[in-house]
Order: sequence, then C-alpha cells, then structure tokens
Amino acid sequence: MSVSNFADFDVLVVGAGFAGLYAIHRFRRQGLSVKVFEKAPEVGGCWYWNKYPGCRCDIPSVDYSYGFSPELDQEWTWPEAYSKQADILNYIKHVADKFDLRKDIQFNSEVTAVTFLDDQRLWEITTADGEKTTGTYCVMATGGLSVPTKPKLAGVDTYAGLELHTAAWPEGVDLKGKRVGIIGTGSSGVQVVPEIAPEVEHLYVFQRTPAYATPAFEPTMTPEMMDRVKANYPRIRETQQFTPRAVANFNARTGAFAPLPDDFLTQGGRVDFRGTSGGNIKGLTTEELAELIKNYGIGHLLNFQDIYFDEESNEKASDIFRGYVKSSVRDPETADSLTPKNYGIGCKRPVRDRSYYQTFNRDNVTLVDLQKQPLEEVNPAGIRTSANQYDLDVLIYATGFDALTGALLKANITGRGGLKLTEKWQYGPVGYLGLQIEGFPNLFAVTGPGSPSALANMVVGIEQHINFIADCLAFMKEKHYAEVEPTKDAVDEWVSICNKLAEGTSYTASGCKSWYLGTNIPGKPQVFMPYIGGYHIFKQHCDNVARNDYAGFAFR
Ligand code: NAP
Repeated sequence: MSVSNFADFDVLVVGAGFAGLYAIHRFRRQGLSVKVFEKAPEVGGCWYWNKYPGCRCDIPSVDYSYGFSPELDQEWTWPEAYSKQADILNYIKHVADKFDLRKDIQFNSEVTAVTFLDDQRLWEITTADGEKTTGTYCVMATGGLSVPTKPKLAGVDTYAGLELHTAAWPEGVDLKGKRVGIIGTGSSGVQVVPEIAPEVEHLYVFQRTPAYATPAFEPTMTPEMMDRVKANYPRIRETQQFTPRAVANFNARTGAFAPLPDDFLTQGGRVDFRGTSGGNIKGLTTEELAELIKNYGIGHLLNFQDIYFDEESNEKASDIFRGYVKSSVRDPETADSLTPKNYGIGCKRPVRDRSYYQTFNRDNVTLVDLQKQPLEEVNPAGIRTSANQYDLDVLIYATGFDALTGALLKANITGRGGLKLTEKWQYGPVGYLGLQIEGFPNLFAVTGPGSPSALANMVVGIEQHINFIADCLAFMKEKHYAEVEPTKDAVDEWVSICNKLAEGTSYTASGCKSWYLGTNIPGKPQVFMPYIGGYHIFKQHCDNVARNDYAGFAFR
C-alpha cells in the first residue's frame, strides 16, 4: 500500500541489477512500497546480459559486492578473487532470494515511457504491453553500460551468418571449428579474444584503435584467503568509503591493507588515482621502473598519479607500455598495429587482459588493422576491407555501449510541463550529483552522469546513491514535503565542478576518444560525463549536502 492516496506505489524502479535490487531492500526497510520493472526474465542487469566467453570483473570480488549485510558477507564464499560473470550472477540471484526481492519485480517488462503527470504530481511508467503504473517517486536503476551499440557500417544488416553482441550473448553458442570475426578491442573484446581463439578454426580481430591492455590480476582465492576476508569484512567495508575508487585494497594473501595516503581525506580537489601504491613516475629511473614492473607487473603503471595530469609522465608510461606490446608479439607488423600511438595511457578505461597479446602469436589468429585497411562494408559473407574479403561463419560485435546517458535517454522520460529529457540533455547531461535533474521532480538516477559512476567500484557507488535517496525521502516525510528537485544554481555549480576537475587530465587530453566522453556514439554531445574527484570526496560532498538539509535541492 502506497503512502500516497493516489499512487499505485511509493517508489517505481526501472532495472533489477545491483541498484534495483538494493533499492527494493532499502526502501522496504523504511516502509515504502516498491515496484521494479525489468526487461530481462531474470535479475542481474549487465551481469545477466554479458554472458560472453571470458567475461569477468576487474575489481576484487570482495569489493564488488554489497556491503549492507554483514550476514551476507559471512555466508557468501567467492570462488575467485576476481569473479567470472557466472559467479557474480549467482551472487546476485542469491541476494534476490535471501532478501525475498523477486516478489516486487515484474520481469520481461520493458519500460517504454516514464512520464510526470503534472496534475497528479505522480510518475507514470508505461511498459511495452501498454500497462501503466503510477508512483510518487521514480528511481532509474538502469545502469551506465546497458545499451549496447552496433556501428552503422555500410551493409551492416546484410550479414547472413550468426551475429552476436558481447552484451547480449545467448546461451549455448558453439564456436568450435568456425571462422569468427570480432569487431572491437575494448574491455569486452580483449576478454573474448584469448578465450575463444583455441576453439575456433580462425579468428579475425578487426581493430580500429589499439588498447592499452594490461594483464589481469591473479584470480585464485583459497579457503584461507576467504577466511581472512571474512575476518576483515567490517574494515573492508569501512575502508572502501575512504578511497577514490571505493576499493579497500585488502590483500587476502597476506591479510594486510595497503596504507592510505594521509591526504586522502583532506585533498578535496584533484583526485588521487594512486590505488595501492601511489607516487609519481616522473622522477623514477629506468632501472627503478624495470624493478617495479618486474615485481608488480606492467599494470602498475596505472597507479602513478602523475600519468593522469602530466603529459610528459603520461608519455613516459605510454612508451614503456609500447615496449611491452613489442616484446609480447612475435610478428613485428602485428606488434606495431597493436601498439597504441595516437593517444596516451589513462584516456580510455583500463583494459585488463589474459594473454591477449600472446594470442596473436597463434597461427589461427589474424589482426586486421582497420587503420591500414579500412572497413568498407559488411556483406552476407562477412567483412570487406580495402584490402581483403573476410568470409565469416560468426561475426561478433564487441563495440560497447551508449554509456551513462544511453539508458536514461532511451527510457523516453518526460518531466514537468512536458519537458523531454532528450531536449534537456541535447547538449550533454546536466544534473546534480548524478542523482537528479532540474525539471524532473521526484525522479532519481543511480550513479548517473556527474557521479563517479564507472570511475569507481559501481556496487559501492550504487549503495551510496540509494542510501542518499532513501534518507532524502525520509527527510521529506518528516518535513511533509511532496516534491524534490535540484535548483538551477546547484546544477550549474556541480556541472562546473565536474568539468573543471576533468580539464587537463589524460581523460580529456587531445586525441583521447572514449565512451566517458561520448565520442563512441556519432552525434552524441562530447562532454566528460563522470565526476572525476574520487568516490571518497564525492561521498563527503553528498554527506555534507544531506547534513545541510539537502542543500542545493528545492522542496515543495
Ligand atoms: P568499449 O570499451 O567502448 O570498446 C568498443 C570497441 O569497439 C573499441 O575497440 C572501439 O574502437 C570498437 N569500435 C566501435 N565502433 C567501431 C567501428 N565502427 N569500427 C571498428 N571498431 C569499432 O566497449 P567494451 O569493450 O564493451 O567496454 C565498455 C566498458 O564496459 C568498459 O570500459 C568497462 O567499463 C566495462 N567492461 C568491464 C569489463 C571488466 O570488468 N573487465 C569487461 C567488459 C566491459 P575505438 O576505440 O576506435 O572506438
């Protein structure tokens, strides 16, 4: 039963991934009725859809999990330190069952419109079958990487073989003995390539831009390590709140936490990207660097803070990386094609691989460098470049997502007075704390643009956002407020803070193209979308806002 006399539910939620599930649990706890709409037949969000071979998370399992239930922490055992997709999905299903969340979810229900009804001051959700449901509040738990994209290549719809997208991978695909082509060498493509290469007859990797792919972390988790994690969970959960990436940096092998630099809580301005170790690359000698890489791997380069702010340091790290590609791949021409040249490390999201470069030493794997032989068309038989026709039995798109804004814009959201979100965001996303948009009262996004989103551990960010929303709704109830939305001043200031923080970093350097900037979608406004100041600073900011009676939000 809704607290409002008029709405069907207190809170409508779109999406049953990590965010939607926690929303049910959290809102229920404060006596609110919740209804979740989910397009898929199962919970899990991106971890339901991305079933492609090799899919795995690059954040430690103990961090990439909910922190709200100590009991859940103690009863769940992670088989690996960095989880496979199937293990994360099992965990999410377990959470749905343990907290009896499924009864509030309507599966197989694609949301086609989200509309503010001015006269009733309610949100109305319409699903593909025409059903309409109203709620006092609406929470878009739609994920930042949930709208897969397929490039608009000439002849793209003419291909007659089996076509797959990594983000909509069906069950039971058999690639044994097939001629397979894959377009895309970002995080998804780089995970697929080494996994399928041994079983296919031949694999053609169509590459437009080479990635900086650094070896993934060792996934082994022993029972002793898991025991150490369980004994330390309270501190792990607490420590996450004080780090830029919301990762506790707990070493389950040794039982030690990496020390936090003193300035973590006080710096407030530029983010500290140091992760576990920190320091600057600039002053280090070639010998010192070689020693560090020998001990910690090439991925350690990403921990140096100055590579994100200083061009010279960035070039130094990028150069070391280029040498690494050269030494990993036998054929010099292939090695050269795989070497990133026109942009620096730390522009795109770090890509983690398992023997990706070594896979190109196999006889049945061919790199097709689209900078040297541009892709001319997709045709019924496969792909034609300026140099060759590649006949394929299977064509895989690992071409990514309309990130961060895609799912919100696709939901057909209309705010007060008929204001469309597509119109409001025609020049790029503007909002407050990644949570709310002026003109869309009582509508909340979770980890939307303007929040750390994918720059930090998403699960921790999701819990922080849902907690903020739930506390805000409790505040409104106490004060008898009916509506909340951000003020124009607060939005302008927040957008300006986000832009200033991103200026002069490797994320926005010239030559840098990434989904953070929207450059992967033709016609999408090119603005750096996440808040770059670090999760810990963002959280402090949100806590201060809440403490100051939700400063920057207007209540009616
Ligand atoms: P992505 O990083 O956006 O990569 C897409 C790839 O497709 C790029 O190599 C891109 O080339 C290529 N591409 C796009 N359009 C093309 C075209 N017309 N012709 C040729 N190539 C084209 O997408 P993703 O790999 O799916 O990863 C997206 C994000 O999901 C990641 O950054 C990460 O946040 C998350 N993810 C994480 C993991 C993990 O935890 N390990 C795994 C998978 C995904 P250009 O670079 O030239 O645009």
